[in-house]
Amino acid sequence: MDRVDVVVIGAGVVGLAIASELARKDMDLFIIEKETAIGQGTSSRNSEVIHAGIYYVKDTLKAKLCVKANPMLYKICEEGKIPYKKLGKMIVGNGEDEVKQLEELIRKGEANGVTDLKLIDSDEVKILEPKVRADKAVLSPSTGIIDAHGLMDYFLRKTRMKMGSDPLVLDTEVTGIKKNKDGYLVETLSSGEPFSLEARIVINSGGLFSDKVAEMVGINIDEAGYRLHWCKGDYFSLTGKPPATMLVYPPPLKDTLGLGIHTVPDLTGRLKFGPNAFYVNELDYKVTSDVEPFWSDIITYLPEIKKTDLHPDMSGIRPKLQGPGQSARDFVIEHEDKRGLDGFINLIGIESPGLTCSPAIAEMVAGMVNSYLK
Ligand SMILES: Cc1cc2nc3c(=O)[nH]c(=O)nc-3n(C[C@H](O)[C@H](O)[C@H](O)COP(=O)(O)OP(=O)(O)OC[C@H]3O[C@@H](n4cnc5c(N)ncnc54)[C@H](O)[C@@H]3O)c2cc1C
Repeated sequence: MDRVDVVVIGAGVVGLAIASELARKDMDLFIIEKETAIGQGTSSRNSEVIHAGIYYVKDTLKAKLCVKANPMLYKICEEGKIPYKKLGKMIVGNGEDEVKQLEELIRKGEANGVTDLKLIDSDEVKILEPKVRADKAVLSPSTGIIDAHGLMDYFLRKTRMKMGSDPLVLDTEVTGIKKNKDGYLVETLSSGEPFSLEARIVINSGGLFSDKVAEMVGINIDEAGYRLHWCKGDYFSLTGKPPATMLVYPPPLKDTLGLGIHTVPDLTGRLKFGPNAFYVNELDYKVTSDVEPFWSDIITYLPEIKKTDLHPDMSGIRPKLQGPGQSARDFVIEHEDKRGLDGFINLIGIESPGLTCSPAIAEMVAGMVNSYLK
């Protein structure tokens, strides 16, 4: 039976970032992915925004890792020639209540360490984005967009280069994990055939299925608070010329499920709007939302948009730790040694801003691995 140092479960942006941070010539590492290509899960179904770290509760992993990762990502984009645009973002407010929310967002962002936020008035908004209607807006110059696949390809390239071999095992689903004397027996179905290997360290970055992977090793996910709730977000694309260049967001949703229907410019110059947020039980990426509520949200800040110019586009599903009506939860990034699972690292609930955070998450997990191996 093959015996390796590290198995990373899941070739999404998080698993790939972790592998690229850990990789070295004298380490046997495998990235095991159930699909036939990398990045087929949430990592290819999102807004591709490089977030600044404004919204998240102070001292949470979401806040700390996002603020840390934002400049790291721009540097990675330059070094790895990954397509990106530092477009900047405005969070717009209309009416007294929303303007108060903007002031609160600036306080929140600054408490998290975001240093470049500015509250601008409607004249300044008009200069930057003439078609946007807002009494005030929070300007975030360090928000941008990135080619998520370009980033994943970069992490995989870096891993292969550092290892001098190919760690990627596709079409292989982890079906069972058993703790043994020196680590873990990882059971898989590889192209339909059973295949097992032993690993000293297992890193669970299984995205929407990371709770199920945690269950495989014997964790009671309800007691641990690890059960995931899938929360879908649909997008509608706009035909015609985009009415704004920057990212334009309304104030975030009060139910903490999402950031509100915002503009989602892509690197080709096309514009989408989304995502909304609603819980689902099935993994079905068909856009099912009605255009009407989308359009009524959008015209509060872009009044010239016509409903007939909006068309169902794509959707993504968030791996949320909070269920309907519950308050927002932070990422779980845990070395499970306290549960007697030395060398088993769980990453659960890595929803937004997980794409942005990926290089900082990778550094954090590498720190856990290195202190375990010491
Ligand atoms: C609608 C939406 C919008 C978002 N927008 C943004 C944004 O603008 N900016 C941002 O920073 N973040 C955003 N996010 C969050 C971001 O997309 C995720 O945090 C990130 O992609 C998570 O990456 P991951 O590698 O953890 O998960 P995934 O990409 O889902 O990867 C997990 C992988 O594990 C594999 N896997 C699962 N189980 C097994 C198994 N048993 N055996 C083998 N392989 C397995 C899956 O096939 C998958 O490939 C958004 C998310 C959504 C849903």
